[in-house]
Amino acid sequence: MKLESGQKLVVASHNKGKVREINELINPYGLNAVSAGELELPEPIEDGKSFAANAIIKAEAAANAAGIPALADDSGLEVHGLDGAPGIFSARWGGEQGDFNLAMNRVHDELEAKGLTDTEQRTANFTCALALAFPQTPEKIEPLVFEGKVFGSLVWPLRGEYGFGYDPMFVATGETLTFGEMDQTRKHQMSHRANAFALFKKACLS
Ligand code: IMP
Repeated sequence: MKLESGQKLVVASHNKGKVREINELINPYGLNAVSAGELELPEPIEDGKSFAANAIIKAEAAANAAGIPALADDSGLEVHGLDGAPGIFSARWGGEQGDFNLAMNRVHDELEAKGLTDTEQRTANFTCALALAFPQTPEKIEPLVFEGKVFGSLVWPLRGEYGFGYDPMFVATGETLTFGEMDQTRKHQMSHRANAFALFKKACLS
């Protein structure tokens, strides 16, 4: 399933940080992206049990509401010492206000409570599931899902002002700067979203 340059696509997210990153990734391919926020599309309930399931829920809802293909990302931080938490609940750990200082403090506190105090004990990864869904037609086209990961560890105290979410506590393997300190072009070369996008690109872009 190839998408042609000029194809209109909804980026099915209301998260400005993610919409910006996805746009930066797809703009070079001439895809004409509009966000679910701009179209004022309703946000579906994300009650899937995995990143992939939630990405499909969001992409299908947006594709059907907008009548054009939709790309949705569901992503989050998986902390190995916390059995993968916050995982699919990464956004929810920020509370109603999306306060990621609160969320990062909770990660830190829960690791401390388990005696996991050193960076070496605080391994984690980000996962991104990218789903491409199509408006419903009699001959239903199944959504496609591409999953990418980036592995690293968590530092404390927080470092950096760039990016969003849990970026100030995450250092990718082999790097010294957190995603919050790093030039964002560099983050986009190695991130979970970039890795998922590379798979999407191979399958869908020419
Ligand atoms: P959702 O996919 O909208 O449910 O939320 C994903 C959440 O995971 C975001 O709100 C962030 O907290 C976190 N997250 C996903 N990707 C990144 C990233 O690249 N950096 C930092 N945090 C991220």
